[in-house]
Amino acid sequence: MAIIYIYFQFKNLRQLGSKYILGIAGLFTVFSSFVFSTVVIHFFGKELTGLNEALPFFLLLIDLSRACALAKFALSSNSQEEVRENISHGMAILGPTFTLDAVVECLVIGIGTMSGVPQLEIMCCFGCMSVLANYFVFMTFFPACVSLVLELSRESREGRPIWQLSHFSRVLAEEEDNKPNPVTQRVKIIMSLGLALVHAHTRLTAEHSGQNRTVEGPVAKPLDPPSTILPLKLTSIDLEQVITLGLALILAVKYVFFEQAETESSLSLKSTIISSTPSPKPWVAEDCCMRSLPALKPQKTSNSVLATIPTSLAAASDVKLSSEADISFKEEDVIQNAFCGTSSGDCLAQTQCAPPSVCTSEPRSLEECMAILSDSQRGAHLLSDAEVMNLVTLRKIMNYKLEGVLETPERGVAIRRELLSSKLPVPTALASLPYKDYNYSQVMGTCCENVIGYMPVPVGVAGPLLLDKKEFYVPLATTEGCLVASTNRGCRALFLSGGCISRILADSMTRGPLVRLPSACRAAEVKVWLETSDGFSMIKEAFDETSRFARLEKLLVGIAGRNLYIRFQSQTGDAMGMNMLSKGTEHALHVLQQQHPDVEVLSLSGNFCTDKKPAAINWILGRGKSAVCEATIPAKVVREVLKSSTAALVDLNINKNLVGSAMAGSIGGFNAHAANIVAAIYIACGQDPAQTVGSSNCITQMEAVGPGGEDLYISCTMPSIELGTVGGGTNLSPQQACLQMLGVSNPNQPGDNARQLARVVCATVLAGELSLMAALAAGHLVKSHMTHNRSKTNLCSENTA
Ligand code: NAP
Repeated sequence: MAIIYIYFQFKNLRQLGSKYILGIAGLFTVFSSFVFSTVVIHFFGKELTGLNEALPFFLLLIDLSRACALAKFALSSNSQEEVRENISHGMAILGPTFTLDAVVECLVIGIGTMSGVPQLEIMCCFGCMSVLANYFVFMTFFPACVSLVLELSRESREGRPIWQLSHFSRVLAEEEDNKPNPVTQRVKIIMSLGLALVHAHTRLTAEHSGQNRTVEGPVAKPLDPPSTILPLKLTSIDLEQVITLGLALILAVKYVFFEQAETESSLSLKSTIISSTPSPKPWVAEDCCMRSLPALKPQKTSNSVLATIPTSLAAASDVKLSSEADISFKEEDVIQNAFCGTSSGDCLAQTQCAPPSVCTSEPRSLEECMAILSDSQRGAHLLSDAEVMNLVTLRKIMNYKLEGVLETPERGVAIRRELLSSKLPVPTALASLPYKDYNYSQVMGTCCENVIGYMPVPVGVAGPLLLDKKEFYVPLATTEGCLVASTNRGCRALFLSGGCISRILADSMTRGPLVRLPSACRAAEVKVWLETSDGFSMIKEAFDETSRFARLEKLLVGIAGRNLYIRFQSQTGDAMGMNMLSKGTEHALHVLQQQHPDVEVLSLSGNFCTDKKPAAINWILGRGKSAVCEATIPAKVVREVLKSSTAALVDLNINKNLVGSAMAGSIGGFNAHAANIVAAIYIACGQDPAQTVGSSNCITQMEAVGPGGEDLYISCTMPSIELGTVGGGTNLSPQQACLQMLGVSNPNQPGDNARQLARVVCATVLAGELSLMAALAAGHLVKSHMTHNRSKTNLCSENTA
């Protein structure tokens, strides 16, 4: 036990970055206290028989963590003066606790000296002595030793100790916070007084009873050694000793030879643990100002690296310094200012730095950095930001791979921002673009590349939207003031009218590749083959096997000369389905080529799909989900909520949405502002925003119905709503939250979620149409936009200008 205990003590010491020196210093305290105790016991004329039994217990009394704690104080210094100051500061904080601990330990162990069991008395006496010796050595010799070792290991050029590890710079503050608990201190003091009384009482009683012990103090007079207890003889090695020796040897060999690599990576291990905590605390600039020092060195000499740092830092590095000795401190201050909140450094103040443990005291060469990077035991987290930027500039790390190469994606994003900032017309431009505390693992390889942050967009809510007898609260991400308020008014009108009802008319996504044949006649033959049931079955079989959800429904084949445009049409479950369709189409085209080797695939997309471009084909044949929604608004609601009349709305709808759009040659744009609602829901719910183009195809119709024709019948027909509830941006947590608001993330019914979302889109469009048309009919549009949408900031600047 004692040997294992000592082994772990050494391992703890290594956390400080020293494998041997501190360990040896610690061992020296153990050794010196052992010698001291032996001498004292001899001085009292005692015999040290049976000490081999006591030795393990003695080792268990040794606590090298004290040495560790004091060494931490020393290591947190920047100069020799600071070493002394910090050691004395450390002694001031740790000294009283250790003194009290030593007293308590002595008194507790001292009880054993009164046991009357001779061997135990000797051991306890020796224990007391060793505790005292350890205490004195710790209070006197060890601080001097640490100071001397740090002085000897001082690096000549920069005047910094070799062990300068910036994460110890926080040790003072931490230790201040961890000051001993006063209650525990008081309990210890009271306990010590009680024990002292017990000791005094026992001694006095013994004196009165005329025992020899009073003359010899607390040390027990040794009795003649029992014949069974023999002095330690090297020759008489029994099994126990063999096991103990073996264990000691194994642990020593393990420590010395097999933990070599860990010596270098023990800190990296620590930083990995830190970075993998669930809510990683960003390493702010203050933590790594010292690490930034070496980053400046190459920047002074190397133009390529200079190009990688923001101008504020570059300017900072030009500051003239009076003497070599001042460099470390002054540059550090300059960098600290640049990183920590001066106006020119605001951009950098947001920049995430590597964990302090990666800080190094000198710049490392390219080879060294590459070696660290490619070493699986070490890795990029041991490189400073400046070193990583240098590697990116030299194209040793690809900029687009930063998130993957570095230990956390966020650090990769931070470094990319820093690299970019210096190239921007306004280097602080990115300061207001947030990037922290974002789950980049959901983005990487799925949603975005070369990430430099994320764009927060305000999300409003409209509702309740009473649709098919269910209430929905619809999230709308927009920066257009009035949009949410207006849609909300439409929802209220619908709610007071008993809601709206909807139907899904069709559900299939399309992909239209372009293939070419040697002649128009061959193209016609292939078209005919595709339209036969055998041809279709063969293509369908190939297509369907690429997904659990994609099921080919139809092929629409267009021909232009020798070009064939094949519009694949398929259900896609809950996915919007573009990737799904692309995958299936590609595989089906291989099969087509096997059947017709003269088929040349020109493009997987021949714009016959048609994706993200206005196209009549989507308007006429539909794409994605085709939905229709209708409602009847009583005259009272039209009058009181919409502040309009049925006649005015019907008239405006005909002349604006139908005739006006026809005049403009619109395709699918027979509505007031369907795209507004589609875009806002798409952004909130993680849809592909570019698909607003086709998805906002909508015809809004209004009729006067009911007695006297005063009620308003309204419908919106949207043939090409391209959306999904799985895949793409829907996987991001905030977008997922908005989908959950709508209750469309139920995994049990593949396809139902996406169809439900399409119904919600169609119904919300209807609400938006109602409200905007009413505002236009009443002439409120400009007034409400001036109140709710006009930028006050720009107005002010216009006025001042
Ligand atoms: P996807 O994420 O590429 O595919 C959906 C995945 O989800 C498939 O692997 C599918 O399984 C799986 N899945 C699990 N549960 C499902 C369910 N209930 N219903 C459907 N699929 C389910 O998504 P996508 O909709 O096909 O593609 C959307 C992405 O494509 C968006 O990021 C969009 O921006 C982008 N996009 C691509 C193109 C293009 O030309 N490729 C064009 C426009 C947009 P299976 O593996 O069994 O199918």
